[in-house]
Amino acid sequence: MSETGAIAVFNGIREPFDLREFPVPDPEPGAAVIRMRLANVCGSDMHYWRGDTDLVARGFNLPGTLGHEGTGEIAKLGAGLTVDTAGKPLREGDRVVFGFFHPCMRCANCLKGHTYACPTRQTNRMTLLDEWPYFRGTFADYYYLFPNHSIFRVPDHLSDHHISGVNCALSQVVSGLDRAGQTNNETVAIQGAGGLGVYATAVAQARGAACVIVIDGVPERLELAKAFGADETVDMREFPTPEARVARVQELTGGLGADVTMELVGHPAVFPEGVAMTAPGGRYVEIGNVCVGHTASFDPSTIVFKSITVLGVAHYRWRDLKQALDFVSDNVDKLPFDRVVSHTYPLHEINEAFERQDELHVTRSALAPTT
Ligand SMILES: [Zn+2]
Ligand SMILES: [Zn+2]
Repeated sequence: MSETGAIAVFNGIREPFDLREFPVPDPEPGAAVIRMRLANVCGSDMHYWRGDTDLVARGFNLPGTLGHEGTGEIAKLGAGLTVDTAGKPLREGDRVVFGFFHPCMRCANCLKGHTYACPTRQTNRMTLLDEWPYFRGTFADYYYLFPNHSIFRVPDHLSDHHISGVNCALSQVVSGLDRAGQTNNETVAIQGAGGLGVYATAVAQARGAACVIVIDGVPERLELAKAFGADETVDMREFPTPEARVARVQELTGGLGADVTMELVGHPAVFPEGVAMTAPGGRYVEIGNVCVGHTASFDPSTIVFKSITVLGVAHYRWRDLKQALDFVSDNVDKLPFDRVVSHTYPLHEINEAFERQDELHVTRSALAPTT
């Protein structure tokens, strides 16, 4: 009898996950089997579970696996995989973070360096549940890392709770602010103080922001944004309309608006508001809106006359993942990284974790496999 591990199987919108056992695969050359230690419930997992976007229309199969943000340790190394993506030795038992999507490095987009736009970067995650190697989502005991993925060894002084948000939320905002070219003394407005928002606050400050303004309506989230370095917070209960929030951001930025605005809410209605609070010549970075088919109505002339650059960031680059890990490593004594995950559940309580996060009172839940 071969060794098995559990996968929390996603059966459909708001349906309970159920734990099923699958054989733990032997890695092909260059691949790795990772034993999960902590898997965060990312905002996009919530969108899929709520049915905000049609996963099947995007090419995924149901029943299937969910989860992509998290950390684990090497259970089995495939032949030839001896070093991580930074060239550091890699051994079984090492704790790691890893890229959950897989640019092919063999297409016109990858050749241009646009690995974040490789059309096949997620196809490994879209296969049928019963198909080898089974473990393609992090809500499971194991995760199968296909050959030539990005993978980085985690320094020993970082706990799982420090780094479980590195391979999605933190890397996304590291990439977004870098691609937006945020420079010293620029103002940054952040729409949404979930995991992405609080990380973006810290990264923007580290890049030398003159002022970081964070907008949200949940007091606990705004308080956490302050702990991550927000200079100003805009509480949506105090500023209930888009016009009031735009006016407040302008007031806080000398009448100009923010040089860089980050959309980290994931609702199309915030798009025109974000454009409106961006300064002339500024950049609007769109990361949160991942739900296909939802539209926003806005006046394109606002982009033209203010000469605003709108930048979409679907996925990060490998170097962003390394920078994100280094950022936590360098700042772990100064910033409360272990507070981004507010609730931790054993994997078999995944349904409770989703229901609780749906109530929006938690920044992020995480699941810890028990085997
Ligand atoms: Zn994510
Ligand atoms: Zn490619």
